[in-house]
Amino acid sequence: MDDSLTLLSVFVTLLAGLTAGKAWERYKLREGRWIDRRKARESPHYILGLNFLVSNQLDLAIEELTTAAAIDADALEIHLILGNLYREKGQVNRAIKMHQQLLQRPKLTKLEQAYVLLCLGLDFRRGGFVDRALEAFTEVLRFDGNNQYALLNLQKLYEEQHQWAEAHAIRERLAALTEDQQQPMHQAILAYLETQIGLDAMSRDEADAAVSRFESAIALDEAALPAYLNLGDLERQRGRIAEAIDLWERVIEIAPERAYLVFDRIDAATRQQGDDRRFPALCRRLIQTNPQDWRARLAIGRHLTDHAQPAEALTHLFDSLVHNPHALSIHQAVWQALAEIQFDAERVQRYMELTREAVFYLDPHICIRCRYRSTELLWQCPQCHEWNTFVEERMTPAEDRENAPR
Ligand SMILES: [Zn+2]
Repeated sequence: MDDSLTLLSVFVTLLAGLTAGKAWERYKLREGRWIDRRKARESPHYILGLNFLVSNQLDLAIEELTTAAAIDADALEIHLILGNLYREKGQVNRAIKMHQQLLQRPKLTKLEQAYVLLCLGLDFRRGGFVDRALEAFTEVLRFDGNNQYALLNLQKLYEEQHQWAEAHAIRERLAALTEDQQQPMHQAILAYLETQIGLDAMSRDEADAAVSRFESAIALDEAALPAYLNLGDLERQRGRIAEAIDLWERVIEIAPERAYLVFDRIDAATRQQGDDRRFPALCRRLIQTNPQDWRARLAIGRHLTDHAQPAEALTHLFDSLVHNPHALSIHQAVWQALAEIQFDAERVQRYMELTREAVFYLDPHICIRCRYRSTELLWQCPQCHEWNTFVEERMTPAEDRENAPR
């Protein structure tokens, strides 16, 4: 869940929670007079403000809600929302100040305190004050132990600090709060976190601990690809080549579209076993199943170049280029194969025809949530910290685009 979504959910929950509970009393005695507390909420400024909020026009929302807040200085929710709007506009200090002032109000209910602290935690997180954010979200949980927004934010903060075990513990609490149909999603995230804990163990040379983490990741989510990759790497390090290859081949069974993640691994491991046929056979099977698979074509091309068959390699590499003319890795493999055959004029000519329209680019993976770009497939986005949001971005080949209707 990203920040803006969280924000909107907080608003909705906030409005429902505060208006339904005793917290919002319709009449209130102030300075010896009963005042009608509905006034601020029934004012057109309030309604307009919320409308601007929904349409993401923050400046206008701030303007109207500030006017509404002036009608009733006690209206907690309006001040809370105003603070959030300042945070969204990047005025974090102002947001913190507003929310801290709200926290000092006497007679806040537990629910109200939890909401204000939650908003303050979001301010701190946005401002990069990690410790204070952790403190605020933890405090929210003291008032409201099942507060999902606080839990979610805590998990993300721990992840940002690479405190995977803490993040894991929080995700387990979140999983315990939600319904059965959402469990696979929780388990997939827990599996990623288990894998990270395993990687930490691996970097400390605690191989047994790492193995058990990777295995429990797979037990949580059978499709936990990074767990298979790392477990295979560990097996290979321990000299158990056949076991490593089996694990990597399971990656291909589970997610053939990501088979390329194990190409270099399987190629090297089978070579270590003295088997030069298994890998090209694997690539041929993949190409047969999916003729679009330019990575399998590239992999077999590289393999054949390494095994002194550059002419056959070029056939595969040119086919690969047809399916993805923009991948620099294919061009590099082509240059290497061409060099092996002393730049045979006919093949160089063919290559030039194929590439005339190509545009080079280096970062074909993109986060579908925040558009962060990366040269390699990342399991967690470094920008928005979501799991498994990367897809391969493909440009349409130039010749197709010319023919396409405009
Ligand atoms: Zn992202």
